[in-house]
Amino acid sequence: KSEFNAEYDLVVVGSGAGALTSAVTAAAKGLRVLVVEKTDKYGGTSALSGGGIWIPCNHHFKAKGGQDSPEKAWTYLKNAIGDDIDEARVRKYIEKAPEMIQWLEQNSRVRYAVAEKYPDYYPQYEGFLPGGRTLDPELFDIASLKDELPHLREASRGNMLMGKISWTARQAHIAMSKSRGWRLMVIWMMLRYKLDFMWRKKTGEKRDRRTALGNALIASLRASLIDRNVPLWLNTNFVELIEEEGRVCGIVVEREGKQQRIRADKGVILAAGGFEQNPELREKYLPKPNKVEWSTTPEGANTGAALEAGQKLGAATALLDWAWWTPSFVVPGETKARGVFAERAFPGAIVVNGLGQRFVNEATPYLEFVTAMYADNEKTQGKTTPSWVIFDAKYRFSYAMGPLMPGQIMPDSRLRKEWLNKLYYKADTLDGLAAQIGVDAMGLQETVKKINHYAETGVDEDFGRGGNVFDRYYGDSNVTPNPCLAPIAKGPFYAMPIQAGDIGTKGGLLTNEHAQVVKPDGQVIPGLYAIGNTSASVMGTTYPGAGGTLGPAMTFGYVAALDAAAK
Ligand code: FAD
Repeated sequence: KSEFNAEYDLVVVGSGAGALTSAVTAAAKGLRVLVVEKTDKYGGTSALSGGGIWIPCNHHFKAKGGQDSPEKAWTYLKNAIGDDIDEARVRKYIEKAPEMIQWLEQNSRVRYAVAEKYPDYYPQYEGFLPGGRTLDPELFDIASLKDELPHLREASRGNMLMGKISWTARQAHIAMSKSRGWRLMVIWMMLRYKLDFMWRKKTGEKRDRRTALGNALIASLRASLIDRNVPLWLNTNFVELIEEEGRVCGIVVEREGKQQRIRADKGVILAAGGFEQNPELREKYLPKPNKVEWSTTPEGANTGAALEAGQKLGAATALLDWAWWTPSFVVPGETKARGVFAERAFPGAIVVNGLGQRFVNEATPYLEFVTAMYADNEKTQGKTTPSWVIFDAKYRFSYAMGPLMPGQIMPDSRLRKEWLNKLYYKADTLDGLAAQIGVDAMGLQETVKKINHYAETGVDEDFGRGGNVFDRYYGDSNVTPNPCLAPIAKGPFYAMPIQAGDIGTKGGLLTNEHAQVVKPDGQVIPGLYAIGNTSASVMGTTYPGAGGTLGPAMTFGYVAALDAAAK
């Protein structure tokens, strides 16, 4: 047998939420665990995500009197995913997801609360719930990370109030929908941040001590690993799997300029994300056009090494032509694009193609939005990438659009100079705006005329925007008759290019219900697990609700760790 530089029971590749969940679980079950992370920061995309997890039948919702059942969740997923559904995996998910989060809350520092008003993404399907399945992380004090704090990947600025103050998804929703008390809440949050300046001064930290969303999830998981003395090696690049007698028993990494072989007696969990940061693999598998720059994920992190290592051992793959699509803005000077999650639904903004025509209900879930973009791009022969979000002065004053905070707190004079004519365009008339951005002026005039009429009647006759509870989640509750529709009438007018972005790829190594990697004939590759975006999504081509990627990543991380511990 060959020599090894280090020996563990279980090695986890990657340090996103699924990876760290599996490491905490395995350590609690008595395994000697090692986590290896390629970059100099832990957390991956998970650290800059919303941290939401979609967990049917979770205990938080139940505690509040919420009604859900495994059968109802199955019906919903069956309807959404369709005939391609992998029944064993999906049923396992429904069974284990609530167990996973309850276990984590009892055995680690992870804490969640239910986002009671966050609806599932597909109101059209039986089994849908208008809220209760999405959980949102509680705030977490990052000071407790001590020496490990500088290595925590920074939260996404787009996810924070004014780009720097942490808030939970529940708080963000109150502010964005302008629900009762939102102003006071925002003032209180800003005050709290300001009053904590001493901590920032003392530590030299620029970030908010109380972190939220995906950053709170990663920080709390990392703190839980510190509690259990689980090592996490940064700057350690996984290169290949080691197989002996038909079983995966370790990995080869590059560390400190050398190749090292690490033994993993009970298995290897590949949790190294997807391949969204790899231009060649994007070119090979994803629909065109697509670009790394449109992705909202950390620069250079997820380049598909784990996928390729699995393929080398003969693993089956699925869904490689899919991503967790999300429309995005490319902001000059920033290293990754920003997802346009909510603003599309706010009243008074529409999205058009190069013909000046709408092609989708703007408030639709992000995966479906970009899917519609690609479909329309075929029809218009390339005139839908980019698409253009159009809004007027009234919208600009009241609502955010990407990094453009509402004009009432960030007037145009305070916007960065380099953003003009790159991130946003501005003109006194719609025709002038259309000419600047190369969109058909007649088409745009026609579209705006229609939407202004729909704003009056409250019915979007073309795409039904604002016609269901999901759309209205990000509407303005003070706007009637339809909280997602308002006229575009008052100059100056604005346009911003929207790209076909992603928050990670969706396809990967095929796994069974134990998160074990399988070959095309269904045979398991012993000792090899894949989770998160390294694995082909259990959700097929759909996004059932907020937390539809992290929920499975963490659940199958938990499942894989339990399976390995039982061996
Ligand atoms: P990651 O979290 O990216 O972790 C993979 C890690 O593996 C990275 O740290 C990477 O550096 C490391 N790695 C890669 N290659 C190697 C190698 N060769 N050797 C060692 N390490 C390697 N999803 C939700 O479910 N809910 C949300 O609320 C949500 N909000 C989001 C908001 C934003 C702004 C974004 C960008 C995404 C959001 N997502 C959300 C999507 C979600 O964050 C990702 O799908 C998820 O984090 C992927 O998890 P992962 O573990 O597969 O990958």
